[in-house]
Amino acid sequence: MHIFSEIGPMNAYLKRERSNLSTVGLVPTMGALHAGHVSLLQASKRENAITICSIYVNPTQFNDPADLEKYPRTLETDIQMLREAECNVVFCPDNSTMYSAVSQLKFDFGALDKILEGEFRPGHYSGVALVVSKLFNMVQPDRAYFGQKDFQQFRVISRLVEELKFDLSLVCAPIVREADGLAMSSRNMRLNAAERKRAVILYQNLKQTRDRLLQGDPFPQLRKTVASQCDQNNVKLEYLALADRETLTLLDDVADPSRAILLIAAQVGDVRLIDNLYLTENRN
Ligand code: AMP
Repeated sequence: MHIFSEIGPMNAYLKRERSNLSTVGLVPTMGALHAGHVSLLQASKRENAITICSIYVNPTQFNDPADLEKYPRTLETDIQMLREAECNVVFCPDNSTMYSAVSQLKFDFGALDKILEGEFRPGHYSGVALVVSKLFNMVQPDRAYFGQKDFQQFRVISRLVEELKFDLSLVCAPIVREADGLAMSSRNMRLNAAERKRAVILYQNLKQTRDRLLQGDPFPQLRKTVASQCDQNNVKLEYLALADRETLTLLDDVADPSRAILLIAAQVGDVRLIDNLYLTENRN
């Protein structure tokens, strides 16, 4: 496994590989790797000759400096995990490789980056789009792999690829969950034992709401039930939303279950968690 922290040596390596017509898959991460990340890596390995995993905690996507500070960093364990997963290349740049001192570029995706996560984390998707654009330019992958776990992020990146004409295919991989249903996340390691138990409420509420929506219960009423259940469990609900899977337009009722998705965000202790569930298909 090759480990690069600078662009030049990585480009030289990629140029050699491309001359053998090898296809390249990119899996962008912020490290603190878990089985969810590994599933993206495996998807890339199935479809490409070379798989690159980038590990970079991108400061411009954190609207809260305390959150950036507390974000888990476990580079040695990550590299070990990537070796075991037979990743070909790890790219772990530092801030000066990724940003110039005068970096000011911003992205605006209209409504898409103002709702849901965008409302609670202003500027977040501008930072995501910026770092992902940089990685796409540096690596020039044939395919890039992202998780459904960050569904709005996938929609933003799809728009980015369309607008900037990046010549690559995007793959959205299913959510990998813990045995009790909690979506795997690097942030889960910051939960204490009691918070970890309470955190499963996000997934439980998504499933209950999905089942009741499919039985015809009205969404506004279901949202109230979820809010009060979160309250009783000392979980601070930020949003529970129903949206169109393609456009992410927010909905009040389900016209076509195959196009609908439920999204949730909540704080358990001081850890912010997100999750989502399609109303039909990929039932997990
Ligand atoms: P992160 O390191 O949190 O920025 O995540 C890197 C990539 O892994 C993103 O595309 C995430 O959507 C994806 N990811 C995170 N958690 C999971 C999970 N539980 N299952 C599948 N993919 C995930």
